[in-house]
Amino acid sequence: MPQQRPPAATPVLSVIGTGYLGATHAACMAELGFTVIGVDVDPDKVASLSAGVVPFFEPDLDDLLKRNIDAGRLSFTTSFAEAGEAADVHFICVGTPQQPGAYAADMSQVFGSISALAPHVSSTDVIVGKSTVPVGTADEIVDQLKNTAASGVDVVWNPEFLREGFAVQDTLKPDRLVVGLASERAEQVMRSVYAPLIADGVPFLVTDFPTAELVKVAANSFLATKISFINAMAEVCEAAGADVTMLATAIGYDPRIGNRFLSAGLGFGGGCLPKDIRAFMARAGELGAEEALTFLREVDQINLRRREHTVDLARKTLGGDLRGKVVTMLGATFKPDSDDVRDSPALDVAVAIYNAGAHVRVHDPKGLPNAERVYPHMDYRSDLDDAATGSDLLILGTEWREYRDLDPASLIDKVRNAVIIDGRNVLDPHLWRSAGWTYRALGRPTA
Ligand code: NAD
Repeated sequence: MPQQRPPAATPVLSVIGTGYLGATHAACMAELGFTVIGVDVDPDKVASLSAGVVPFFEPDLDDLLKRNIDAGRLSFTTSFAEAGEAADVHFICVGTPQQPGAYAADMSQVFGSISALAPHVSSTDVIVGKSTVPVGTADEIVDQLKNTAASGVDVVWNPEFLREGFAVQDTLKPDRLVVGLASERAEQVMRSVYAPLIADGVPFLVTDFPTAELVKVAANSFLATKISFINAMAEVCEAAGADVTMLATAIGYDPRIGNRFLSAGLGFGGGCLPKDIRAFMARAGELGAEEALTFLREVDQINLRRREHTVDLARKTLGGDLRGKVVTMLGATFKPDSDDVRDSPALDVAVAIYNAGAHVRVHDPKGLPNAERVYPHMDYRSDLDDAATGSDLLILGTEWREYRDLDPASLIDKVRNAVIIDGRNVLDPHLWRSAGWTYRALGRPTA
């Protein structure tokens, strides 16, 4: 039997897995006034967080972390026993990456963390899943707990919608809170955990396990589809000599369509959208509903084709052969304001061009250490002017503010060949062309 402990009026929280999601969640919940203990199996990460240093880049998170550690509300440990002893509500925020060689999610971190936590929870505790998981996972966890000291402990599924680059603001002011649960008590506990946000008017949606799990993958599938839709239009625009940016602006005025997530370019990447839509397809197949999601295969293919197309465009722009050419990739991360290079379109294109024989320089304001760790062979430059000097081709792969603000007139003196591919459609073609550049973009006319 789990140990007995009276339910606390203000629960103490643990956050299991302190990566991008967990570290943010832990710091934000502490900011809301809770006592929070973060747990990770990576001792270096725990040491860094304990010292008040966020081991990745996320705007505003450093301040939040330091402030709440100093206030005595936030601590980190590798000990599940310590977290089980101290906390009443345990948020599971571990990774669910794509399995190598398959579409399905690798669930070993989730089930591993539950196994490690189970012996240390008390009967009144609540385990709250936040990781993005295949539908059916919460039920599997309930089953997994049956043979442990935590049998009967309430489980909740509470998917997370934060965006890297806006993670703090998205956690403190979310669009909505979704909780999948199976008991009134679990609902009461979740209402007390999110009381400050509910009081702020954040919609609080209570549902069952499978609906809560599906909300997350459905949302990501919709967003991925919207991006791939406009990128499919970009392919047609290229064939027809039309301009996809004008097309997007024009259709986006229709409020039923809306202009957000409607930017044509190199497409989506990162540690979520690509692996989430693939895991969703795999899970639908297991459930006998694969036909419902065959369109996601096309969404994925359209997205990956943009990367190949950019490599082809680079080759064509440089006279049909990339060998020996100096190509500078502006951006390594999958999006601006992050250091996350997981499944980064910019980095993928850089590697393909490198493999085609070019000398590839990569610049990024925050992502170089991570990129270099994954692909050590390319030429990483932390200074933008230095990265551009003597270059035959610039490719804007990630829409960092400093690339949007580049001055084409001063940059032209540095490069060997004044050619730029705007992989994100964020530069002004007129400005660049009138400064003497050959400007190419995805889904736009060549001149
Ligand atoms: P991450 O890889 O940055 O973090 C996962 C952390 O879990 C790591 O620090 C790892 O050391 C730790 N971990 C692994 N096994 C563990 C165990 N058994 N016990 C304790 N800790 C363990 O991943 P992330 O980006 O934070 O994503 C986590 C989950 O959140 C994923 O399911 C992801 O899809 C989902 N999610 C992520 C985001 C995002 O923007 N990153 C947004 C919404 C949802």
